[in-house]
Amino acid sequence: MTMYDNNILKDIENAEEICIAGHINPDGDAVGSVLALALYLKRLGKTPRVLLESIPARFAFFGGTQLWYNGAYDGLVPDVFFAVDCGDKARLGNAGEVFDRAGLTYCIDHHRTNTGFADVNIINANASSASEIVFELMKKNGFDPEKDSEIAADIYSGIVFDTGGFRHNCTGRRTHEIAGMLVDGGVDTSVIHSRVLFEHTYPQAKLFGIALGNMKHLDGVTYTTLTTAEIEGCGCTSEDLDGIVDYLLNLDISECAVLVTQRSETAAKASVRSKKIPIADIVVSLGGGGHALAAGVTCDGSAAEVAEKIVALIVKEIKHG
Ligand code: AMP
Ligand code: MN
Ligand code: MN
Repeated sequence: MTMYDNNILKDIENAEEICIAGHINPDGDAVGSVLALALYLKRLGKTPRVLLESIPARFAFFGGTQLWYNGAYDGLVPDVFFAVDCGDKARLGNAGEVFDRAGLTYCIDHHRTNTGFADVNIINANASSASEIVFELMKKNGFDPEKDSEIAADIYSGIVFDTGGFRHNCTGRRTHEIAGMLVDGGVDTSVIHSRVLFEHTYPQAKLFGIALGNMKHLDGVTYTTLTTAEIEGCGCTSEDLDGIVDYLLNLDISECAVLVTQRSETAAKASVRSKKIPIADIVVSLGGGGHALAAGVTCDGSAAEVAEKIVALIVKEIKHG
Protein backbone atom coordinates (compact mmCIF):
# COMPACT_ATOMS: atom_id res chain seq x y z
CA MET A 1 0.00 0.00 0.00
CA THR A 2 1.30 3.44 -0.79
CA MET A 3 -0.13 6.67 0.52
CA TYR A 4 -1.95 7.17 -2.76
CA ASP A 5 -3.82 3.86 -2.91
CA ASN A 6 -7.44 4.80 -2.47
CA ASN A 7 -11.06 3.71 -2.72
CA ILE A 8 -12.31 6.85 -4.42
CA LEU A 9 -13.87 5.06 -7.38
CA LYS A 10 -15.70 2.65 -5.08
CA ASP A 11 -16.81 5.44 -2.76
CA ILE A 12 -18.28 7.54 -5.57
CA GLU A 13 -19.79 4.59 -7.44
CA ASN A 14 -23.28 5.05 -6.03
CA ALA A 15 -22.94 8.71 -5.04
CA GLU A 16 -25.46 11.04 -6.65
CA GLU A 17 -24.47 14.30 -4.97
CA ILE A 18 -20.74 15.02 -4.85
CA CYS A 19 -19.30 18.31 -3.62
CA ILE A 20 -15.68 19.40 -3.99
CA ALA A 21 -14.45 22.40 -2.02
CA GLY A 22 -11.19 24.30 -1.53
CA HIS A 23 -10.12 26.85 1.05
CA ILE A 24 -11.56 30.35 1.40
CA ASN A 25 -9.83 33.07 -0.58
CA PRO A 26 -8.88 30.36 -3.11
CA ASP A 27 -5.44 30.50 -4.70
CA GLY A 28 -4.13 28.83 -7.86
CA ASP A 29 -3.57 25.48 -6.17
CA ALA A 30 -7.04 25.41 -4.59
CA VAL A 31 -8.75 26.32 -7.88
CA GLY A 32 -6.53 24.02 -10.00
CA SER A 33 -6.83 20.96 -7.74
CA VAL A 34 -10.57 21.32 -7.14
CA LEU A 35 -11.41 21.86 -10.82
CA ALA A 36 -9.13 19.02 -11.96
CA LEU A 37 -10.81 16.59 -9.56
CA ALA A 38 -14.24 17.86 -10.58
CA LEU A 39 -13.50 17.40 -14.29
CA TYR A 40 -12.13 13.92 -13.61
CA LEU A 41 -15.32 12.89 -11.77
CA LYS A 42 -17.40 14.45 -14.54
CA ARG A 43 -15.57 12.31 -17.11
CA LEU A 44 -16.60 9.31 -14.98
CA GLY A 45 -20.23 10.27 -15.45
CA LYS A 46 -20.76 12.14 -12.18
CA THR A 47 -22.12 15.67 -11.79
CA PRO A 48 -19.91 17.16 -9.08
CA ARG A 49 -20.52 20.61 -7.66
CA VAL A 50 -17.53 22.84 -7.09
CA LEU A 51 -17.89 24.88 -3.90
CA LEU A 52 -15.41 27.74 -3.99
CA GLU A 53 -15.94 31.16 -2.44
CA SER A 54 -15.01 32.63 -5.83
CA ILE A 55 -12.97 31.90 -8.90
CA PRO A 56 -10.65 34.92 -9.08
CA ALA A 57 -10.59 36.52 -12.53
CA ARG A 58 -6.97 35.58 -13.14
CA PHE A 59 -7.90 31.89 -12.85
CA ALA A 60 -10.97 32.19 -15.09
CA PHE A 61 -9.02 30.50 -17.91
CA PHE A 62 -8.71 27.25 -15.90
CA GLY A 63 -10.62 24.26 -17.29
CA GLY A 64 -13.90 23.26 -15.63
CA THR A 65 -15.04 26.62 -14.25
CA GLN A 66 -18.54 25.76 -15.52
CA LEU A 67 -18.73 23.23 -12.68
CA TRP A 68 -18.55 26.04 -10.11
CA TYR A 69 -21.75 26.12 -8.04
CA ASN A 70 -22.89 29.61 -7.17
CA GLY A 71 -26.26 28.73 -5.54
CA ALA A 72 -27.42 28.41 -1.94
CA TYR A 73 -25.62 25.88 0.24
CA ASP A 74 -28.47 25.05 2.64
CA GLY A 75 -30.11 22.39 0.44
CA LEU A 76 -26.88 20.54 -0.30
CA VAL A 77 -26.54 17.12 1.36
CA PRO A 78 -23.73 15.34 -0.51
CA ASP A 79 -23.12 11.61 -0.45
CA VAL A 80 -19.42 12.35 -0.78
CA PHE A 81 -17.58 15.59 -0.01
CA PHE A 82 -13.97 16.30 -1.00
CA ALA A 83 -12.07 19.06 0.86
CA VAL A 84 -8.97 19.86 -1.19
CA ASP A 85 -5.96 22.10 -0.34
CA CYS A 86 -7.62 22.88 2.97
CA GLY A 87 -5.74 22.42 6.26
CA ASP A 88 -8.64 22.72 8.70
CA LYS A 89 -12.42 22.75 8.61
CA ALA A 90 -12.76 26.45 9.37
CA ARG A 91 -10.87 27.21 6.15
CA LEU A 92 -13.76 25.68 4.18
CA GLY A 93 -15.78 28.80 5.06
CA ASN A 94 -19.48 28.39 4.25
CA ALA A 95 -18.82 25.00 2.63
CA GLY A 96 -18.13 23.72 6.17
CA GLU A 97 -21.88 23.32 6.81
CA VAL A 98 -22.16 21.15 3.68
CA PHE A 99 -19.18 19.11 4.89
CA ASP A 100 -21.03 18.47 8.19
CA ARG A 101 -24.04 17.04 6.32
CA ALA A 102 -22.05 14.77 4.00
CA GLY A 103 -22.30 10.98 4.17
CA LEU A 104 -18.57 10.50 3.58
CA THR A 105 -15.84 13.11 3.70
CA TYR A 106 -12.39 13.16 2.12
CA CYS A 107 -9.56 15.56 2.83
CA ILE A 108 -6.85 15.76 0.17
CA ASP A 109 -4.13 18.14 1.29
CA HIS A 110 -0.47 19.05 1.74
CA HIS A 111 -0.57 21.55 4.64
CA ARG A 112 1.86 20.68 7.42
CA THR A 113 -0.69 21.93 9.95
CA ASN A 114 -3.54 19.74 8.65
CA THR A 115 -5.74 18.44 11.46
CA GLY A 116 -7.04 15.33 9.61
CA PHE A 117 -10.64 16.48 9.97
CA ALA A 118 -12.32 14.18 7.42
CA ASP A 119 -13.34 10.50 7.39
CA VAL A 120 -10.60 9.73 4.87
CA ASN A 121 -7.47 11.91 5.09
CA ILE A 122 -4.95 11.77 2.27
CA ILE A 123 -2.33 14.22 3.47
CA ASN A 124 1.26 14.52 2.28
CA ALA A 125 3.10 17.53 3.71
CA ASN A 126 6.03 16.74 1.41
CA ALA A 127 3.96 17.15 -1.73
CA SER A 128 4.46 20.40 -3.63
CA SER A 129 0.76 21.12 -3.83
CA ALA A 130 -2.70 19.66 -3.48
CA SER A 131 -2.71 19.51 -7.28
CA GLU A 132 0.22 17.08 -7.19
CA ILE A 133 -1.70 14.80 -4.75
CA VAL A 134 -4.88 14.96 -6.84
CA PHE A 135 -2.77 13.95 -9.85
CA GLU A 136 -1.38 10.90 -7.97
CA LEU A 137 -4.86 9.84 -6.84
CA MET A 138 -6.32 10.16 -10.33
CA LYS A 139 -3.33 8.36 -11.84
CA LYS A 140 -3.85 5.45 -9.44
CA ASN A 141 -7.37 5.27 -10.88
CA GLY A 142 -6.29 5.15 -14.50
CA PHE A 143 -6.09 8.86 -15.37
CA ASP A 144 -3.92 9.37 -18.44
CA PRO A 145 -2.68 12.99 -18.73
CA GLU A 146 -1.92 12.42 -22.41
CA LYS A 147 -5.61 11.90 -23.07
CA ASP A 148 -6.94 14.92 -21.19
CA SER A 149 -5.17 18.21 -21.73
CA GLU A 150 -7.83 20.19 -19.85
CA ILE A 151 -7.31 18.31 -16.58
CA ALA A 152 -3.55 18.24 -17.22
CA ALA A 153 -3.50 22.05 -17.53
CA ASP A 154 -5.39 22.53 -14.26
CA ILE A 155 -2.95 20.29 -12.41
CA TYR A 156 0.03 22.03 -14.00
CA SER A 157 -1.39 25.46 -13.10
CA GLY A 158 -1.89 24.45 -9.47
CA ILE A 159 1.65 23.07 -9.22
CA VAL A 160 3.17 26.15 -10.86
CA PHE A 161 1.25 28.43 -8.49
CA ASP A 162 2.14 26.66 -5.25
CA THR A 163 5.77 26.03 -6.14
CA GLY A 164 6.29 29.58 -7.39
CA GLY A 165 7.38 28.06 -10.72
CA PHE A 166 9.18 24.94 -9.38
CA ARG A 167 11.23 26.94 -6.85
CA HIS A 168 9.76 26.31 -3.39
CA ASN A 169 11.20 23.71 -1.07
CA CYS A 170 8.65 20.93 -1.58
CA THR A 171 9.38 20.83 -5.30
CA GLY A 172 10.86 17.37 -5.72
CA ARG A 173 11.92 14.93 -8.38
CA ARG A 174 8.36 13.64 -8.50
CA THR A 175 6.98 17.14 -9.07
CA HIS A 176 9.17 17.45 -12.16
CA GLU A 177 8.25 13.95 -13.33
CA ILE A 178 4.56 14.83 -13.06
CA ALA A 179 5.22 18.08 -14.91
CA GLY A 180 6.85 16.02 -17.67
CA MET A 181 3.77 13.82 -17.96
CA LEU A 182 1.57 16.93 -18.12
CA VAL A 183 3.77 18.40 -20.85
CA ASP A 184 3.26 15.15 -22.78
CA GLY A 185 -0.46 15.85 -22.35
CA GLY A 186 -0.07 19.04 -24.37
CA VAL A 187 0.01 21.63 -21.58
CA ASP A 188 1.16 25.07 -22.74
CA THR A 189 3.77 25.67 -20.03
CA SER A 190 4.78 29.12 -21.19
CA VAL A 191 1.24 30.51 -21.17
CA ILE A 192 0.47 28.96 -17.78
CA HIS A 193 3.64 30.33 -16.14
CA SER A 194 2.88 33.82 -17.45
CA ARG A 195 -0.75 33.84 -16.47
CA VAL A 196 -0.43 32.16 -13.08
CA LEU A 197 2.70 33.91 -11.84
CA PHE A 198 3.59 37.02 -13.80
CA GLU A 199 0.62 38.76 -15.40
CA HIS A 200 -0.77 41.59 -13.31
CA THR A 201 -3.31 44.31 -13.89
CA TYR A 202 -2.59 48.04 -13.85
CA PRO A 203 -4.44 48.48 -10.49
CA GLN A 204 -2.31 45.67 -9.04
CA ALA A 205 0.85 47.47 -10.14
CA LYS A 206 -0.39 50.65 -8.40
CA LEU A 207 -1.04 48.68 -5.22
CA PHE A 208 2.39 47.05 -5.50
CA GLY A 209 3.86 50.55 -5.49
CA ILE A 210 2.00 51.46 -2.31
CA ALA A 211 3.04 48.22 -0.64
CA LEU A 212 6.70 48.94 -1.47
CA GLY A 213 6.27 52.52 -0.26
CA ASN A 214 5.01 51.23 3.10
CA MET A 215 7.83 48.66 3.38
CA LYS A 216 9.91 48.43 6.56
CA HIS A 217 12.74 46.20 7.74
CA LEU A 218 13.71 44.89 11.17
CA ASP A 219 16.47 42.36 11.93
CA GLY A 220 16.01 40.17 8.84
CA VAL A 221 12.26 40.66 8.51
CA THR A 222 10.98 42.78 5.63
CA TYR A 223 7.34 43.68 6.03
CA THR A 224 4.61 45.93 4.78
CA THR A 225 0.96 46.75 5.43
CA LEU A 226 -2.02 47.74 3.31
CA THR A 227 -5.20 49.32 4.65
CA THR A 228 -8.62 48.80 3.09
CA ALA A 229 -8.51 52.40 1.83
CA GLU A 230 -5.17 51.75 0.08
CA ILE A 231 -6.42 48.51 -1.50
CA GLU A 232 -9.76 49.95 -2.63
CA GLY A 233 -8.16 53.26 -3.64
CA CYS A 234 -6.25 51.37 -6.34
CA GLY A 235 -9.42 49.60 -7.49
CA CYS A 236 -8.16 46.33 -6.00
CA THR A 237 -9.56 43.66 -3.67
CA SER A 238 -7.96 41.02 -1.44
CA GLU A 239 -7.66 38.89 -4.59
CA ASP A 240 -5.02 41.25 -5.98
CA LEU A 241 -2.19 40.65 -3.53
CA ASP A 242 -0.25 37.87 -5.27
CA GLY A 243 3.45 38.49 -5.62
CA ILE A 244 3.86 41.23 -3.01
CA VAL A 245 5.13 39.15 -0.10
CA ASP A 246 7.28 37.04 -2.42
CA TYR A 247 8.95 40.20 -3.73
CA LEU A 248 9.78 41.25 -0.16
CA LEU A 249 11.22 37.82 0.61
CA ASN A 250 13.44 37.88 -2.46
CA LEU A 251 15.27 40.99 -1.22
CA ASP A 252 18.85 40.22 -0.24
CA ILE A 253 18.32 41.48 3.32
CA SER A 254 15.25 39.30 3.96
CA GLU A 255 15.26 36.12 5.98
CA CYS A 256 11.51 36.40 6.35
CA ALA A 257 8.80 38.60 4.86
CA VAL A 258 5.34 39.59 6.04
CA LEU A 259 2.44 41.28 4.25
CA VAL A 260 -0.42 42.38 6.49
CA THR A 261 -3.65 43.55 4.88
CA GLN A 262 -6.68 44.95 6.63
CA ARG A 263 -9.72 42.71 6.00
CA SER A 264 -12.39 44.39 8.16
CA GLU A 265 -12.64 47.16 10.74
CA THR A 266 -11.36 44.79 13.39
CA ALA A 267 -9.20 42.17 11.67
CA ALA A 268 -6.12 41.91 9.46
CA LYS A 269 -4.63 39.02 7.47
CA ALA A 270 -0.92 38.26 7.59
CA SER A 271 0.95 36.33 4.92
CA VAL A 272 4.29 35.11 6.19
CA ARG A 273 7.14 33.74 4.07
CA SER A 274 10.60 32.53 5.02
CA LYS A 275 13.77 31.51 3.19
CA LYS A 276 14.92 28.95 5.79
CA ILE A 277 13.63 29.55 9.32
CA PRO A 278 10.41 27.56 9.91
CA ILE A 279 7.60 29.99 10.71
CA ALA A 280 4.53 27.71 10.78
CA ASP A 281 4.65 27.29 14.58
CA ILE A 282 4.58 31.05 15.18
CA VAL A 283 1.64 31.41 12.81
CA VAL A 284 -0.17 28.44 14.38
CA SER A 285 0.31 29.99 17.85
CA LEU A 286 -1.70 32.95 16.56
CA GLY A 287 -4.49 30.72 15.23
CA GLY A 288 -3.38 30.34 11.61
CA GLY A 289 -1.67 27.62 9.62
CA GLY A 290 0.17 26.65 6.46
CA HIS A 291 3.56 25.24 5.57
CA ALA A 292 7.01 25.48 7.18
CA LEU A 293 8.08 28.39 4.96
CA ALA A 294 4.71 29.87 3.89
CA ALA A 295 1.83 30.41 6.27
CA GLY A 296 -1.04 32.75 6.97
CA VAL A 297 -3.29 33.95 9.76
CA THR A 298 -6.09 36.42 10.37
CA CYS A 299 -5.85 38.32 13.69
CA ASP A 300 -7.84 40.97 15.53
CA GLY A 301 -6.36 44.44 15.22
CA SER A 302 -5.33 46.96 12.60
CA ALA A 303 -2.85 45.96 9.90
CA ALA A 304 -0.13 47.96 11.69
CA GLU A 305 -0.84 46.31 15.06
CA VAL A 306 -0.92 42.80 13.61
CA ALA A 307 2.32 43.46 11.70
CA GLU A 308 4.05 44.70 14.83
CA LYS A 309 2.99 41.63 16.79
CA ILE A 310 4.04 39.07 14.15
CA VAL A 311 7.29 40.78 13.24
CA ALA A 312 8.29 40.87 16.94
CA LEU A 313 7.67 37.11 17.23
CA ILE A 314 9.68 36.35 14.08
CA VAL A 315 12.58 38.56 15.15
CA LYS A 316 12.65 36.73 18.48
CA GLU A 317 12.76 33.40 16.61
CA ILE A 318 15.59 34.64 14.34
CA LYS A 319 17.63 35.90 17.31
CA HIS A 320 17.04 33.16 19.84
CA GLY A 321 15.72 30.17 17.82
P1 AMP B 1 -1.21 32.99 2.16
O1 AMP B 1 -0.31 33.79 2.99
O2 AMP B 1 -2.65 33.32 2.36
O3 AMP B 1 -0.80 32.96 0.73
O4 AMP B 1 -1.10 31.50 2.70
C1 AMP B 1 0.10 30.79 2.81
C2 AMP B 1 -0.23 29.36 3.16
O5 AMP B 1 -0.82 29.30 4.46
C3 AMP B 1 -1.23 28.71 2.22
O6 AMP B 1 -0.90 27.37 2.05
C4 AMP B 1 -2.55 28.86 2.92
O7 AMP B 1 -3.44 27.83 2.58
C5 AMP B 1 -2.16 28.82 4.39
N1 AMP B 1 -3.00 29.72 5.19
C6 AMP B 1 -3.22 31.03 4.96
N2 AMP B 1 -4.03 31.57 5.90
C7 AMP B 1 -4.35 30.57 6.76
C8 AMP B 1 -5.16 30.47 7.95
N3 AMP B 1 -5.81 31.52 8.45
N4 AMP B 1 -5.26 29.27 8.55
C9 AMP B 1 -4.61 28.19 8.06
N5 AMP B 1 -3.82 28.22 6.96
C10 AMP B 1 -3.68 29.37 6.30
MN1 MN C 1 -3.89 27.05 -1.33
MN1 MN D 1 -1.71 24.36 -1.76
